[in-house]
Amino acid sequence: MLDPVAIDTDLREEASALLRRLVACDTSNPPGRETQAVAILEDYLAAAGLECERVAKDPERANLIARLPGRGSGPSLAFLGHFDVVVARREEWSVEPFAAVERDGAIWGRGTVDMKGQVAASAVALAALAREGFRPAGDLMLLVMADEEVGEAEVGAPYFVEQRPDLCPDFVVGEGAGERYDTTAGPVYLLDHGVKATATATVTVRGRPGDASLSDAGPNALYEVGRLLARLEAYRSPVRIPAQVEPLIDALAPGDAPPHERLAAARVTHPAIDRVFGALVGTTFQPSVLEAPAPQNVVPATATLTIACGPLPGTTGEQLEAELREALGDGEYEIELTTPPKGGSISDEDSPLRDAIEEFLGAEDPQARLIPTLGYGYSDCHVLREAYGCIAYGFIPFRYGDAVVNLETKHGADERVLVDDLEFQTRAALAIARTIGSQE
Ligand SMILES: [Zn+2]
Repeated sequence: MLDPVAIDTDLREEASALLRRLVACDTSNPPGRETQAVAILEDYLAAAGLECERVAKDPERANLIARLPGRGSGPSLAFLGHFDVVVARREEWSVEPFAAVERDGAIWGRGTVDMKGQVAASAVALAALAREGFRPAGDLMLLVMADEEVGEAEVGAPYFVEQRPDLCPDFVVGEGAGERYDTTAGPVYLLDHGVKATATATVTVRGRPGDASLSDAGPNALYEVGRLLARLEAYRSPVRIPAQVEPLIDALAPGDAPPHERLAAARVTHPAIDRVFGALVGTTFQPSVLEAPAPQNVVPATATLTIACGPLPGTTGEQLEAELREALGDGEYEIELTTPPKGGSISDEDSPLRDAIEEFLGAEDPQARLIPTLGYGYSDCHVLREAYGCIAYGFIPFRYGDAVVNLETKHGADERVLVDDLEFQTRAALAIARTIGSQE
């Protein structure tokens, strides 16, 4: 028997070396080119004796299945990750975004949190199990998808599940939640067992073209967009509390009053929790692109605004469009839902997978509670849930890092993961895989 402390030191170093190699592959989406990172991961996993298989529509954008085969006598478990990352604007970063610099106990770089860190952690966990000769009852897998962040190329998870209807893991652990919030009501980790939906709307505003050297030419479509944006910014979506969010309110602000009366008390327990709640109890609207394709000397006759929408599960396209119209108010514009609501699937909150996660936290961080809730952003967990009917949870534990820093940097600048957290994620993956893999 090896000394467990020695094992941890090795796993920590292994996960951090692997993560740094993965971050160094620039897989900004678009164009993605995830296969570079897939090749590194295959090389690492094959050396530990795991089976690897690519599922690729575009050879430069492969998805990967890595497998520690089971005996066929128990449930299968898949860790689900993605290799594409959102674009990094170098000038906004204080370090090179793809250099994987280690500083202040953290690895810095695009994708360290979202989500090459989790891919490295679960790869190291499966490699460790393979090397020790662990034979699980059901298959233990790592699935790494391309094109999660954009999805327009249709080479990622939707293509994957179409090609591999046979795979059907019973349990899936992906992204979506897992930060530790040290709230005034005690420390909690969130387990996301379903996601809000996402949708995209475009708002086209009409004006009249004219000579830009005349101050009264127009109307100028951009001024009208400005008025609509001001209304959208001031708009507050009516509070609706999905049933899946009630356990979080119960945990942070217990009492007999109805959940909507306890919501405010639950929100003030932690600044990051407050922001998460902001997304979970109503529709979110965020304008993300504005285009007015006129030459610089012509008053634009049209302008198009793209709005990222986050409706609650079950919201129809018509309902979403009606709410957006209400938020924008009167004016000369047309709304088109270019992507109707997708997502919104929910897995049962009680399962052997939740038990396995709770067992790990009980041993490592006994004061903290695990609270099931909804995820606020889209993730590939939804695609697997729909295709396979599996239990899929978003849970990547960050025991040590500041939840607010995670929230602000993962699609922003200076994204980084503490090496302590990477080790914690590796230990979590190892414990969860061992627990599920031992169930007949
Ligand atoms: Zn992600």
